[in-house]
Amino acid sequence: MKNLPPEEVIVERGSEGSPIYQNLRRTLPLVRFSFVDDIAAANGGAGGVSNSFGSAKNKLYLAKHKGEFLKKCPGSEGQVCCNYFVINFASNCPMDCSYCYLQEYLADNSALKVFSNVGDLIDEVDATLKKHRGVFFRIGTGEITDSLALEPYTGMVRKILPYFAEQPNVLLELKTKSDCVDSLLDLDPKGRVVVGWSMNPQRVIDADEHATASLTERLNAAQRVQAAGYRLGFHFDPMIEYPGWEADYHAMLEETFAIIDWRKLSWVSLGVLRDTPGLKRTMRERFPRSQLLTGEQVLCPDGKLRYYQPLRVQMYRQMVSWIRRAAPTVKVYLCMESREVWEQVFGFAPSCEKELGNQIAPAS
Ligand code: SF4
Repeated sequence: MKNLPPEEVIVERGSEGSPIYQNLRRTLPLVRFSFVDDIAAANGGAGGVSNSFGSAKNKLYLAKHKGEFLKKCPGSEGQVCCNYFVINFASNCPMDCSYCYLQEYLADNSALKVFSNVGDLIDEVDATLKKHRGVFFRIGTGEITDSLALEPYTGMVRKILPYFAEQPNVLLELKTKSDCVDSLLDLDPKGRVVVGWSMNPQRVIDADEHATASLTERLNAAQRVQAAGYRLGFHFDPMIEYPGWEADYHAMLEETFAIIDWRKLSWVSLGVLRDTPGLKRTMRERFPRSQLLTGEQVLCPDGKLRYYQPLRVQMYRQMVSWIRRAAPTVKVYLCMESREVWEQVFGFAPSCEKELGNQIAPAS
């Protein structure tokens, strides 16, 4: 994986006592550290505006997070939601996929940040989990960052994972396109942690998932965490349609299920390429040669562009049939899709988000 260390670490004063600061100092001995009173001011004004999304990835900011850490996944209007919660322990990502929605979502706040107040994160989650012991929470950390790409430097996941491993009513999902799993291997997840990989054929990785781990590296990392006792998830998302996509996706699935014991897979999700007119403008500026700009898409009621519905249904049905052949009872769900598409692919649609959440991750 071509995950280069940051060129500089900028620390907001008050974060020097954080274990994340200690980890950064230890793991980045040759990198310049500087200190500022306020990262928003240091990074160009309100909210930390950075003029160039790409160059913002080269500097890592360490600061206290001042808002709430735990949030309900916003999902997408009118689409079937899977009742997912997210913890944001960092913002932005050192990798650079051409379709990444963060290019639009974080356009005015694109600094690569990791948050130093880990104790506040644990306290907040603990209060919620204790208050609702009868509720089973599925919590992800990869909404506005990659869960593991910064782990070799920050040690964030290693710091918080032992807390989650002890909780009776939570499943923590670490979603990644990296292979940065070393710091997880000697921890005991106690059945409470799923490491989820976003998967695409190597051709798509080469073309549009810049600086991420290769397919082989992702699968090797998945094999290692599975052997260390972690549950696994795979997200074949975003699926890309191009001449010959069937052969590439079929080969990827065969390679995956040849290496991974599907009986230990917690879930598999499917989703097609989604973007917006605004994101496409950014993609045209940053990745003008990407083939993703040429495919035909339609505007859906949630404001997102997707392939037209019959093509999506055909792609999902094809993937489901290959997955079922290799892994007959693995749970498969669609990410951000309409009830009509669910019904055409599976013959049913979950009646509510709670039902889908319970199907994906029943309390155990
Ligand atoms: S790995 Fe995920 S968060 Fe990082 S650039 Fe790619 S899509 Fe965005």
